[in-house]
Amino acid sequence: MKKKKKHKAKPRDNHNLIQCHDHSWRPWYVVCVHVMRGHSPVARFSKASADEVGECLCKECADREEPDIEQLKACCDRCTEEKIIPTAGMLQ
Ligand SMILES: [Zn+2]
Ligand SMILES: [Zn+2]
Repeated sequence: MKKKKKHKAKPRDNHNLIQCHDHSWRPWYVVCVHVMRGHSPVARFSKASADEVGECLCKECADREEPDIEQLKACCDRCTEEKIIPTAGMLQ
């Protein structure tokens, strides 16, 4: 019997991971470019996990009915939590 070809790069069969240059396979956030560049504080935050893609958006992007995918990026959880959020800050 032929073995099914497996995706070699992924340690687990989990599509909710991305490969980060610094942190390898991680859960990830949708981060808007405004937060990412530190131009806007985080207005909507939901925690990323292996089952759930997190959200990390500024107020404008969080209020948008249709997300503008041009302005959204995928970032690994550690990059988001350790670099992006401390730089952008949280909306009070
Ligand atoms: Zn934004
Ligand atoms: Zn990372």
